[in-house]
Amino acid sequence: MRLEKFLQCNFDKSHKPINFTNNYYFRVPFLMATTRSVAIIGGGIGGLTVVNGLMHAGLSVSLNERSPFFIPTAGAGFGLQPNGQAVLAHIGFKEKVQQITHPYLVRQIINDNGDVIASSNRIADYGKRFGFFLGGILRAELVDILKEPIEQAGNLHNNHNVANIKQDADGVMISLENNQQKKSVRVDMLIGADGIHSTVVNQIFPQSPPPIYTKENIFYGVIDNIDQQTSINPTVTAKNTLTHYSQLKRFPKSHPVHECAAATDKKRLLHFGLYYRQHRRDGWHRGRICLLGDSCHATLPYVGQGANMAIEDAVSLATCLEKHHFLIEPASQEYYKQRYDRTRRVVNSARYLGLLLHSQNPVISFIAKRLGSVIIQSNVLMTMIENEFYNKCPISMKPLKEE
Ligand SMILES: Cc1cc2nc3c(=O)[nH]c(=O)nc-3n(C[C@H](O)[C@H](O)[C@H](O)COP(=O)(O)OP(=O)(O)OC[C@H]3O[C@@H](n4cnc5c(N)ncnc54)[C@H](O)[C@@H]3O)c2cc1C
Repeated sequence: MRLEKFLQCNFDKSHKPINFTNNYYFRVPFLMATTRSVAIIGGGIGGLTVVNGLMHAGLSVSLNERSPFFIPTAGAGFGLQPNGQAVLAHIGFKEKVQQITHPYLVRQIINDNGDVIASSNRIADYGKRFGFFLGGILRAELVDILKEPIEQAGNLHNNHNVANIKQDADGVMISLENNQQKKSVRVDMLIGADGIHSTVVNQIFPQSPPPIYTKENIFYGVIDNIDQQTSINPTVTAKNTLTHYSQLKRFPKSHPVHECAAATDKKRLLHFGLYYRQHRRDGWHRGRICLLGDSCHATLPYVGQGANMAIEDAVSLATCLEKHHFLIEPASQEYYKQRYDRTRRVVNSARYLGLLLHSQNPVISFIAKRLGSVIIQSNVLMTMIENEFYNKCPISMKPLKEE
């Protein structure tokens, strides 16, 4: 009875077993399983961060990334928010990350003519209030910083595609392949950080529904030198400024976005279909295999927290393993408990914001058009958002001391 209680302590009572690994008799051998060696599948931001966290904790780790080179998203930038930076600082990357982060000091919204319709410099205070600015970074630069210690330790394996995984009571057997060779590796624990179209998810939760495609697409690029390459409206060239558009619809020919697109190197223009994953209510692990980042809670990009959540997951999982003396079952359960609510709120808020922004209903569309301006100019709403994302960060964010 006590054993059953322990196994079910973090699970939804209404959940029905979905595969044999869910049966608690199957889980008994895993209860006392510990890990000294961990293989991570996927070298995105989440995978790279968790390897650093686990190396910090003294584990033997290997990172297996299927791309031959480490810049699959070269050229793309993303928003590293104060919470993501606080967590990276916690595992020793504070200075290096600050060097590549371009702080946003002003947030503004422009309309179809390129006129500024709302503006706020509230984010200029983030350094003082949270210890870190909301900043823009190039993804490839963050990857370089995070991969350096892994590469130096000889733990990085590019061109390693994980084709199959089998676990038993004593460990996990991973089949890796590329054009030249196939090989197998045996480890105590496996972490699936292999993103939205995860192979690991399909292996441990074979009946899991696929990620949901919203039929929205994003083209993403970086203009190297906006001053020289464009003559566009100064609202877009303004430095340290995060510019949103008032409506995500077809842009008129006069809109500055066309000049931005024309100035972007086409080889570095990225195209993404937008997907999200609904949260599992029965945990993110089975036995010795655990998930993190987009593989378990992919989110739409509208609140800019996907990579930040993957960073938080990574450090949370590493910390739980250390706290539970590397016992996989209790560490994975506590990790899920710590992360479920926070990541679910992010996924849901991004999803509802997306529905609002793309609605064809004229009334909703009218509200959406004004929403951004209302939010960034409202202290009450901004405080709520900051409270949700930053004050609830698992690593506490201390304000910088006054000089
Ligand atoms: C257009 C767009 C804009 C975004 N903007 C932001 C933003 O501003 N801020 C933010 O926080 N987030 C943003 N995100 C979300 C963010 O990019 C993701 O949430 C984040 O990258 C997830 O990290 P991850 O490590 O979980 O997965 P990924 O970054 O997807 O990494 C998964 C890795 O696993 C590898 N892999 C997959 N399968 C295998 C296999 N079988 N074997 C070996 N390797 C494998 C892949 O090659 C990949 O390198 C944005 C996303 C998009 C699409």
